[in-house]
Parts: sequence; C-alpha cells; structure tokens
Amino acid sequence: MRLTKLPLNTFKEAPAEAKVISHQLMLRAGLIRRLASGLYSWLPLGMRVLHKVQQIIREEMDSSGALELFMPIVQSAELWKESGRWEEYGPELLRIEDRHNRQFCLGPTHEEVITDIARNELKSYRQLPVNYYQIQTKFRDEIRPRFGVMRAREFVMKDAYSFHLDEESLVEGYQTMRETYDRIFTRLQLRFQIVQADTGTIGGNKSEEFHVLADSGEDTIAYSESDGFAANIETVPLPPTDKPNSTSKKDLQRIETPNVRTIEELCKFLKVAPEQCLKTLLVQGTDTPAVALFLRGDHELNSLKVQKLDAVAKPIQMLRSEEVQTVTGMEPGFLGPEGLDLPMYADQAAAAMSDFVCGANEMNYHYKNANWQRDWRLPTIVDLRNAVAGDPTPSGNSILSIAQGIEVGHIFQLGEKYSAAMNARVLDSTGKSRVMQMGCYGIGVTRVVAAAIEQNNDTRGIIWPDAIAPFDVILIPINMNKSYRVKEATEDLYNRLQEAGFDTLMDDRDQRPGVKFADADLVGIPNRLVIAEKAWDQGQIEYKSRRSADTEMIDIDGLIKFLKTKRS
Ligand code: ATP
Ligand code: MG
Repeated sequence: MRLTKLPLNTFKEAPAEAKVISHQLMLRAGLIRRLASGLYSWLPLGMRVLHKVQQIIREEMDSSGALELFMPIVQSAELWKESGRWEEYGPELLRIEDRHNRQFCLGPTHEEVITDIARNELKSYRQLPVNYYQIQTKFRDEIRPRFGVMRAREFVMKDAYSFHLDEESLVEGYQTMRETYDRIFTRLQLRFQIVQADTGTIGGNKSEEFHVLADSGEDTIAYSESDGFAANIETVPLPPTDKPNSTSKKDLQRIETPNVRTIEELCKFLKVAPEQCLKTLLVQGTDTPAVALFLRGDHELNSLKVQKLDAVAKPIQMLRSEEVQTVTGMEPGFLGPEGLDLPMYADQAAAAMSDFVCGANEMNYHYKNANWQRDWRLPTIVDLRNAVAGDPTPSGNSILSIAQGIEVGHIFQLGEKYSAAMNARVLDSTGKSRVMQMGCYGIGVTRVVAAAIEQNNDTRGIIWPDAIAPFDVILIPINMNKSYRVKEATEDLYNRLQEAGFDTLMDDRDQRPGVKFADADLVGIPNRLVIAEKAWDQGQIEYKSRRSADTEMIDIDGLIKFLKTKRS
C-alpha cells in the first residue's frame, strides 16, 4: 500500500475525552473515529488490524473443529421471553419495534438465537458434540461507554456455543475452548491470565475469564502465584476474621464534625486512619425501604456478595441522597448504626472493629471510640467486601496480590440453562429424548485491539505486536521526488518485500522525513526502512525496529533474510 492512496490523518494531541492510552492512540493514529457515545467507525488502517485479529481467531476456532455461522443482529422478543431474559436483562438490552409493532432487540449476545437453531437442526446424539461460532457485531446499551472501543455500545465479538449430550462431553468441549483461547491470545502476543469468574446474566455453572494485564483495566484480579490461584475479585470469598473486641475501656464520645462527610474528610479532621472508620451504606431492600451495610472505611463493597442477601433488592441499588434523607432523616455523610430501624449487615472485618469512628445519625456529628455490642447491637455478620492485597487465598495457604485486567475473553459451562428453558433436545442412543448441555465462549474482538495497545506503547505511539500490525514494514524514501535512483530503488524494494510476504507500506507522500518518521512511530509499524541515495549506492539501507531506539545499516542483498529473522 502507498500512503498517497491511504488518507491518513494523524494528530499530535488526542481529544480530552480520551482518558486511556489506547483510546488516545487509536484516535491519534487514525484507526477509529467516534460517531456518537460508544459508537465507533473503523477506518481502513484500523480495519487491517481488526482483520488480522479475526484471522487468528478464525484459524484457531476452525482448527478446534468449531463451525462458523452468522446470525442476525436483530432478534425477536419471543425468543428472549422463552429464555426469561426479556424481563431479566435490564436496560442494557436495546428493545425496538418494527412497523408492525412487533418487538425485537439488538443482540447483546446470541444464546437465544443459537439455541433456537440447535433445537431445529440437531435431532440425534450422533450429531453431537457441535460448536458453532460467529464473528459479529453486538449491541449493549452500556451505562457508561468509555475508553473508546474498550467499552463501547456497539462492538465486535467472536461468540461460540457448544452443544453436548452430557456433562462429561461439555467439560471436554469447555477444555478444548480453554486451550483454543490460550493459543489465540498467545498468537496475539498478549500477556494474559486466566481467572475464575462469575457467570453474570449469562448464567450457568463454571466460568473463567481471560484478562490482559494492564493498569488501565476496569477489572480487578486477585491472585497468588505460589497458590496457583487467580480470580476476578468479584468472586473471591474471604474467610471469617477475628471476633469483635468488646472489652474496650474507652468511653464513647460524640464529636462535632461540621461538614465532614466522606471517610477522607473524616480521617483528616480527626487524624485517624480509614481502617478506624466505619462506612455505612444504604441499599434498596426487598421488603424494606433500605438495608444498612457496614464496611471498614478502607474496604470496598462487593456487589455480587451483597446481592446474595435475600433482604437486598436485585440488581443492587444504592439509595440516592434524597432517599437516604427520606428513610433516615439524615444525610449519607453522618450515617451510623445508632437507632437505625433497618435490616443491618456488617462485613466480617467491620464487625471485628473496636474503638471505631462512625456517623452519629445527627447532622454534623460523629462518634469516636464506638464499640459493637457495648454501644449497639452487632448486625448480622457476612462477607461483603472485595479482597485486598494481603488477604488470605481461599485455601488459606498463601496471600493475595492484586492486579488490574482487561477482560478479553470469557468461557462458560452453561449446562441446561437455555436448552431446558427453550426445550432443545436430542434423542440419545436408547431413543430417549434429552435436554442438551451447552457451553458458550466469547472474545471481545474490538476490545483485543485496544488491549494490545495498552500493553504495547511508548511516548511516540503504538508498538504493534508483529502478529496484528497493520503493516509489517514501512519504507521511507528520502527525497524520492528529487532522486530518480531513490524512487526506483523504493519501487523495486516494495515489490520484493510484497513478494516475500511482507505487508509493506510505502510512504510516498511529499513530506519532510521528520513528519514521516513521527507518523511511522505513532502508527506503530514494527520495521522501518529508510532509503537514502548515498547508502543505497553503497549497497546499504537503514533499518530500525519500532521496539529499539537505534538504527542499523543492513546489506541490501541480505535484507529479506534479515527481516525474516525479525519476525517473532
Ligand atoms: P464486561 O464485564 O467487561 O462488561 P461482560 O462480562 O459483560 O464484559 P461477556 O458477556 O462475557 O462480557 O462478553 C464476552 C466478551 O465481549 C467480553 O469478555 C469482552 O471482551 C467483550 N465485551 C463485553 N462488553 C463489551 C463492550 N461494551 N465493549 C467491548 N467489548 C465488550
Ligand atoms: Mg464476561
């Protein structure tokens, strides 16, 4: 490809709304453009990367024996009502009506459609197991679309669904997909980790996520290498902590704390650590206007754990400030256990606190040296918080470390969740009708591109892994329009590289070398060759790897062989 034939608009600065590096670089390098919130167009340069990612996924899925198909984006409401998810899914499901007032939705995922296909196409155990996959657009009306294509509303997913006669076959199919994903992410040259995960609204039994490790990741992973444990923090259970110490001799003190509302403000005002403060949160109750939850000031609420409490309405909803006022007559910043006539649950660590600071349930007042039992009844003790670094692993044999991850893949053993609800059955070898077992497996194809950039960049731009770079080599001729020899040499080299199988970009624009170098670095092409008259006459060419700071002179005769050694 010649750059004069590829309209490339690169920018020195990214728009202010781009917060993470991958979003900034994808905009600056001209890979994507924003249409509206969470909606992006992929420009030709970005499309080349996306195609390479898709190609690797296709090759590995095909070689695992999975079969590619293609399902509609628009799905009928009837199927979703059959599975029960029409009501269950919530506002992320974009519901639409056609001109006949029939209800449809834009597919956020395709379990319903594939189960409908399976119940019609699969009749006998002889046809099983089978794994269908597609690479296709999904729509989820995300509450906070952000970070560009990382959390978009419209995005491309590879989704696969396997059907089995029994659980043993499902476990085997799941394992095959796990290995296939391992190969895919390895070929994509990503540093990733497999973690235990929650099954979310998709449902089912076992599930694991593939995370690309990056500081900008929205997910938190708790792991211990020595224990061989890794899980999404959502799912990590914590063992009971020590019993509360109720033998304190310090008197309860009521202290005026004008306008001191947050834990941070409280710590500053009273010169205490967050570990000594009790956090009171109100969420909507199932049968009560609210449920009170208590956490240690330095701990975070784990929504999944909270939602397991019968008293708490699902999905979890924090009370807004006005609602807190209506229920308690108090502002959220001054809440505490005193006189609360609500169901109360304390996290294990919060229940173990003594001589703590908490709201006095009175405007501008807090308590100091508060103690459970002595001052108020101890709430029901439950595990409510996220694990933090230093917490024990579930086995108790080691301690947890914490890292941020970007979820790029997710595999599930669904079991009979959809096949039972939608009556997807086959006949077994004895002629008996049986509900099929099902697995599902997703890869965020567009998110993978952003994740790759998060792991591979520097101040000058993107550094593509070889496997998914839009081009393998960029040719930068110096004074091509003035020197016939340079022009001829560049054309000749371009043809030879293309023939040797290198995707080559020739920067034939009438631009200063500095501009060309900057663009080549920003776009992140792994190998750069500079063609200058003097060196060429001496049989040499300047080479620079995007990953290295230094240039080197290479003999033109050995160039192709040299470039082949650079391929990882
Ligand atoms: P998340 O927890 O990030 O919202 P999810 O668990 O809802 O994702 P799945 O239903 O498991 O997502 O979908 C499979 C894959 O699709 C995810 O692993 C992720 O890589 C990708 N994906 C999900 N939501 C988005 C999105 N809004 N934008 C881009 N990719 C997404
Ligand atoms: Mg997921």
